[in-house]
Amino acid sequence: MKCPFCSQPESKVVDSRLGKDKDTIRRRRECLGCKKRFTTTERAEESLPLVIKKDGRRETFNPLKILNGLKKACEKRPIPIDLIEKIVNRIEQHFQEKGEREIRSSEIGEMVMEELHRLDGVAYVRFASVYRQFKDIQEFMNELNELLGKKGEAKKK
Ligand SMILES: [Zn+2]
Repeated sequence: MKCPFCSQPESKVVDSRLGKDKDTIRRRRECLGCKKRFTTTERAEESLPLVIKKDGRRETFNPLKILNGLKKACEKRPIPIDLIEKIVNRIEQHFQEKGEREIRSSEIGEMVMEELHRLDGVAYVRFASVYRQFKDIQEFMNELNELLGKKGEAKKK
């Protein structure tokens, strides 16, 4: 998204809103070079960022992948599917609104962890153990204790 005034490629998003037909997103951007502001209209699916994987490869943002990861973590837990779908929507919307062209896959992972932390302890630990690839059982236990500690505190109040 080049600045129309000075052709500088970097800009930041100052405001986003859905277009009239809901398929487009209007963004107010500020050029990082000349600081002038301009508006862009993007199709909703185009406004999702590319995801930079650990090995540097880029892939398109795929909500289905997040959904599958969440489903796996929540398997046999008393969690309704619409709650899981809401999390996916929140994450998708978050990155749409941020309006960045590229994000790291770890940014998605961290957000999933935050959501699961609030939702269900078992699902959280399941996801974390795969995602963080705990080096040893001690690291895993530390995480678990921290989680149980927080739960205990919440109950006392
Ligand atoms: Zn400019």
